[in-house]
Amino acid sequence: VLLTAGSALGFGGLSLVWSRNASRRSLSRRLARAIRKDQINVHYQPIVRLSDRRLVGFEALARWHPPSGGAIPPDDFIPVAERDGLLPALTERVVSRAISGLAPLLAGSAEVYLSINIGVGSLFDPELPELLDYHRLRYGVDRSRIALEITERDTGDIERIGEAIRSLREAGYRVFLDDFGTGYSSLAYLATLPIDTIKLDKLFTRSADSAFVPALVLRQVSHMVATLGLKIVFEGVETEEQAQALEELTPGAVGQGWLFGRPMPAHEALTLAFA
Ligand code: C2E
Ligand code: MG
Ligand code: MG
Ligand code: MG
Repeated sequence: VLLTAGSALGFGGLSLVWSRNASRRSLSRRLARAIRKDQINVHYQPIVRLSDRRLVGFEALARWHPPSGGAIPPDDFIPVAERDGLLPALTERVVSRAISGLAPLLAGSAEVYLSINIGVGSLFDPELPELLDYHRLRYGVDRSRIALEITERDTGDIERIGEAIRSLREAGYRVFLDDFGTGYSSLAYLATLPIDTIKLDKLFTRSADSAFVPALVLRQVSHMVATLGLKIVFEGVETEEQAQALEELTPGAVGQGWLFGRPMPAHEALTLAFA
């Protein structure tokens, strides 16, 4: 009986692994096709100065709506792209869409920037500098108007990442450290990486108007960031209370979140910017 139960379990486990791999492979194939057919779209979420809500930038966020219906969230398909080597091709499409969609704004005189998420698989792509140049030069967009968001949890090889970031900054791009505070070695990254802005993860923002321990951590982190001469973007600002608490904590800071606007298509972003 034991033997039978054991082999049944073993078989069940195997078939579970098999079907998981199979569905991952099919997601990967569908993603490759969607990238090839230029079906990955980009939405833009406003980033505003907390004190007066003035627009300072937009973050480009990849969107995938398969023709068969529904939406597959980036948290599902970005890891697949990373694992299966599709990220450089995906980034190429995102950069192209992201810049062309906001070109009238980015080539104009209003100092609004565009920030683009760059996974490590793309950060180390030797073609990244040319890719960025190609798409921005088509529209006459200056490098200073583009920020590249590097995710903290991805930053395994800190020396190599430091080099990549340094050369992007020397070229004139801004570099943001995304999801700050969620990785294992936040402090090491802060001290080592040549970034100019950190995006503090929404975990911290949630604690802004509370009196609990995370609020104390938030206070210390913002002091430290200011001491280091870095700028902060607070992620995930959802309520007026949070916005006010964060502005009091770090005068001049900027934030991003549902309170100020959801990710939106290019035409809406342009309307908002030129309003
Ligand atoms: P992220 O770069 O940290 O982007 C912010 C995420 O928080 C977005 O989710 C955004 O829609 C969401 N968000 C914004 N404001 C709020 C808020 O007030 N409350 C809450 N709860 N959430 C808010 P999204 O668009 O689903 O993207 C998820 C992640 O996928 C991104 O996190 C980023 O890591 C990755 N991603 C998205 N687009 C790209 C891309 O083009 N390339 C790469 N490499 N990664 C991407
Ligand atoms: Mg980001
Ligand atoms: Mg983020
Ligand atoms: Mg995030």
